[in-house]
This record gives sequence, structure tokens and C-alpha cells, in this order.
Amino acid sequence: MTQETLFSKIIRREIPATIVYEDDEVLGFKDIAPQAPVHVLFIPKNHIIPTLDDLTAEQAHLIGKLALAAAGYARREGFAEDGYRIVMNCREDAGQTVFHIHMHLLAGAPLGHFGA
Ligand code: 5GP
Repeated sequence: MTQETLFSKIIRREIPATIVYEDDEVLGFKDIAPQAPVHVLFIPKNHIIPTLDDLTAEQAHLIGKLALAAAGYARREGFAEDGYRIVMNCREDAGQTVFHIHMHLLAGAPLGHFGA
């Protein structure tokens, strides 16, 4: 059983968001607390999948749709050549706070490297 999330309310326009991309399957909107000059979230509109770990093989194409939406946005906005980062947080240790899978697109400045 999937739970409603605040992203469901954004999809239904019940709470405001700056929507920058929409097609039949994907919604893209600006993050309310941006971590970079460009910070957009891309979410599936028709499936509430709580975490990446809940994704099934039948749903796997949705990740490609999110990535294509993010890459297209980057090209249209003119920063694809400079580069960008895609992040998906899964559960507590990654800091996931909204349990409706989403792809973060971060860009607009050198982001530095991360790792160990
Ligand atoms: P997570 O931490 O789960 O990977 O990412 C959730 C993101 O949703 C966070 O970056 C957070 O700032 C963003 N967020 C939380 N509430 C809202 C909201 O009401 N509107 C928008 N546009 N973003 C939100």
C-alpha cells in the first residue's frame, strides 16, 4: 500500500510549487530549499514508489524517464555543457525525507566532488 505524500499534493496542485517541467509521466519542480543555484526535483506522477529500494522491474523505466526529463531540462536551460549532478536519496542514512521517489538535479556552480 502506497502512502500519499506532499509530492502527491504538488502533482494535484493542492500545494504550490514552481513547476518547470511536465509530461504524462513526470513532473519537475524547484526544490523549496535549494542546495545549489539550480535545484529541481523530478518525480513520477502516476506511481508513488516510496524509495528506490521499492522499485520493481516493471517500474524501472520510470527512472529513465526522470533522467531524460532532467537532461532535457539541463539542455534547454543551457547548463548541460557546464555539467550537473543527479542524486537519488534512499532512506535514512542518505537523508531521504519525502517517500515518493524523486531525482534531484543540482547545477549552476561547481559542486565539488564527494566521496570518502
Ligand atoms: P530528499 O531529502 O527526500 O531526497 O528530498 C526531498 C526534497 O524535497 C528536499 O530537498 C526538500 O527541500 C524538498 N521539499 C520538501 N518539502 C517541499 C515542498 O513543500 N515543496 C518543494 N518544492 N520541495 C520540498
